[in-house]
Amino acid sequence: MSKYVYTFGNGQAEGTGQMKELLGGKGAGLAEMNRLGIPVPPGFTITTEVCTHHYQHDRGFPDSLDSEIRAAMANVEALVGAKFGDAANPLLVSVRSGARVSMPGMMDTVLNLGLNDVTVEALARKSGSPRFAYDSYRRFVQMYGDVVLGLKPESKTEIDPFEVLLEKKKETRGVHLDTELSADDLKELVGEYKAEIKKRKGVAFPEDPWQQLWGAARAVFGSWETHRAITYRQMYNIPSTWGTAVTVQAMVFGNLGDDCATGVAFTRDPSTGERRFYGEFLINAQGEDVVAGIRTPIEIAKLEEVMPAAYGDLVAVYQKLEKHFRDMQDIEFTIQRGKLWMLQTRTGKRTAKAMVRCGVEMVSEGLITVKDAVLRMDPHKLDELLHPTLDPKAPKKVIAKGLPASPGAAVGKVVFHADDAVAMAQKGEKAILVRVETSPEDIHGMNAAQGILTARGGMTSHAAVVARGMGKCCVAGTSSISVDYDKAQFTVANGTIVVKKGDILTLDGSRGEVILGAVAMTAPALDADYHTLMGWVDQARRLKVRTNADTPVDAQTARNFGAEGIGLCRTEHMFFAEDKILAVREMILSDNAEQRRRALAKILPMQRHDFVGIFTAMNGLPVTIRLLDPPLHEFLPTEDVQIAQVARELGVTPEVVRARNQALHEANPMLGHRGCRLAITHPEIYETQVRAVLEAACEVKRAGVDVQPEIMIPIVGHWRELERMRALVLKTAAEVLAREKLDVAYTIGTMIELPRACVTADQIAAHADFFSFGTNDLTQTTLGVSRDDAASFLGEYVRLGIYTTDPFVAIDQEGLGQLIRIGVEKGRKAKPGLKIGICGEHGGEPSSVEFCHVEGFDYVSCSPFRVPIARLSAAQAALRQK
Ligand code: PEP
Ligand code: MG
Repeated sequence: MSKYVYTFGNGQAEGTGQMKELLGGKGAGLAEMNRLGIPVPPGFTITTEVCTHHYQHDRGFPDSLDSEIRAAMANVEALVGAKFGDAANPLLVSVRSGARVSMPGMMDTVLNLGLNDVTVEALARKSGSPRFAYDSYRRFVQMYGDVVLGLKPESKTEIDPFEVLLEKKKETRGVHLDTELSADDLKELVGEYKAEIKKRKGVAFPEDPWQQLWGAARAVFGSWETHRAITYRQMYNIPSTWGTAVTVQAMVFGNLGDDCATGVAFTRDPSTGERRFYGEFLINAQGEDVVAGIRTPIEIAKLEEVMPAAYGDLVAVYQKLEKHFRDMQDIEFTIQRGKLWMLQTRTGKRTAKAMVRCGVEMVSEGLITVKDAVLRMDPHKLDELLHPTLDPKAPKKVIAKGLPASPGAAVGKVVFHADDAVAMAQKGEKAILVRVETSPEDIHGMNAAQGILTARGGMTSHAAVVARGMGKCCVAGTSSISVDYDKAQFTVANGTIVVKKGDILTLDGSRGEVILGAVAMTAPALDADYHTLMGWVDQARRLKVRTNADTPVDAQTARNFGAEGIGLCRTEHMFFAEDKILAVREMILSDNAEQRRRALAKILPMQRHDFVGIFTAMNGLPVTIRLLDPPLHEFLPTEDVQIAQVARELGVTPEVVRARNQALHEANPMLGHRGCRLAITHPEIYETQVRAVLEAACEVKRAGVDVQPEIMIPIVGHWRELERMRALVLKTAAEVLAREKLDVAYTIGTMIELPRACVTADQIAAHADFFSFGTNDLTQTTLGVSRDDAASFLGEYVRLGIYTTDPFVAIDQEGLGQLIRIGVEKGRKAKPGLKIGICGEHGGEPSSVEFCHVEGFDYVSCSPFRVPIARLSAAQAALRQK
């Protein structure tokens, strides 16, 4: 029989830190802390299997669960010396969620559970503070009413109904602060809260603690399927089958008086990675107050002054935890009457900069090995480091300063609601989301926005933690701004500066600056830690990493990021350039070879010039140039002025041009007259391009450049196509080299982007010096899914789990992977040592890079900004294989 409940307390635990899958991150961390002898309030964890069961069995629970929970509760009661629901000596518990990986604030929590009209009196007696007891009760009824009974604001503008009652109470009592309300006031408020629940939800607040417990457990399991949790899972690729665990734990109180506190801390700085204890606390408060950003907390170092003994204990605990887990920990604690209790430890979320610095420094501290450090890096996250920051020399008007909660810079239009940020992103515009404070409900807007600005909340508030996890710039706790949602504006400096919805704002998340208008950006500065890491990465990997680049600027960017050549230079992108498009249109619309040659003669010097730039930028490295690929109609003029212009050049009427446009129309251009098929019917196109490549190669070679051209033929499906193209290239190149009286070594290869090419790769290999898998087209043609039309339905496929990830993003290893394997095997069988690469978008995606490593590819090629990600992924693949 399955075991569904694992207890912990008093230095013992049934679970361990390894059991995250079953106990969730929180449950596993609490179990492990117990084993380490760290003070943790006793409790128990209901496993993630119960969550799965709950969803698979029409929201039911396993039969044995009730008795397991009762036994576990008895264990907690014995350890604490109090009884759940007891009128004289009640045990109170918290009920919290905890998935395998942390999903900050995404799921629900209920605190102070077990209070009712009877037990509250006992709590008042026990604590000696009726005010504390009724404040705890008020908070509990509010949380339970919201989380379990679903009493929430019904619209974006409605204020929380519980807050309305609280404000009213303060008003009638003539006070400003919650703390000024008396025990009797709070007692009245409890009654009003319950009445409001009854009125609006039609149910009575349950007085029975066991009924409360089941309600809370149901709500926490239910929160796995809330809109915000689903959005978060989609963003971070967390399978919906994982489920959450529920941890029930004896309450300790940080709000019993001024010798109590609660806080959140990280064992290193999660923004920069610096080795320093980093965090915040609040005196006389409950844990949720810190995370929710309602009160702005105090820096952790100050705790030493106010509670030196507890601080000393906390330092010893955090050092022990970091050493034990050999990674940065994110911890939550409560100090009750001077005694420290740990409520959580988990791997801390961090920025890319902190990820790299922590890894590098932990190696030098001897905490982890180089292999650990490389494997621990998240390749997707590296992207954050590679993007521009604010130009320090650019002028800027700083209108407010907040906390530098998550580094980076962002420029965009101000919006005040998450949905507006999403709408703006859908229009292709950049948004800055401004909130008094963010809540988990805002997750989709935070994801869509470029940056986040909040008026309240500290460095560990929801906004800060989530933004850091997302790698989004965030300025939090900017108390000088005053946000008015109704007027869709915020003001600064006593209302003298008004920033309205739609105004442009810049945020500097590294300095906490809020700047009016757009500030110029500069290229990122990669620090010494990054270079140390990438040094280890390059030693570990076998796969080479090239780039897809069509301009000298992109080529140089990629080279700076460590590219070892160009794996795909798409020559058609050059054709689109403003100075060439007219000649290209003439070439396409010519109705005889003579006219076409004349137009091509105009294109030739321009292409040669492009290649000279690229070869020079890639001096000493191979450059794969792909000859023209897309269907010709993509270049056609569509507007009247363009049509008239082409007609003039060709000496025909606009009607003739329109008629030729019409004739070139294809029903299914992706499978139409494109790739090498263009050159089978119009060989002069490729002849011109080959001439331009070799003339440019001769020119740069004379100038001392080590040039290594590789000519690549697209959309080959039959070996006879390649045979003809190879002959064309060889003949044209020989003519150029004879004329130039120079020898340039070059190779001729093919893209593999059709299923027929994979299954006949042995025949094709006979005519190729290299293969480069074009997995964009290969995915399209294998799955029968148009790459241009997939967006309308593929998202739903992924949401439903039909494809677990978008096959145009990560290689569909199960399906496409088989064809690629056949292509590699047959190709290498026919030609041992055949050079094989990939140049589809997948070449920069970590799981696809790993696939290429395992399948014995020689290189991957990706866009310039993904080169470091591919290098890291290649190293991880090699280290994992060892
Ligand atoms: C491919 O099909 O994977 C490829 C790289 O070519 P393109 O995207 O230009 O069709
Ligand atoms: Mg292609």
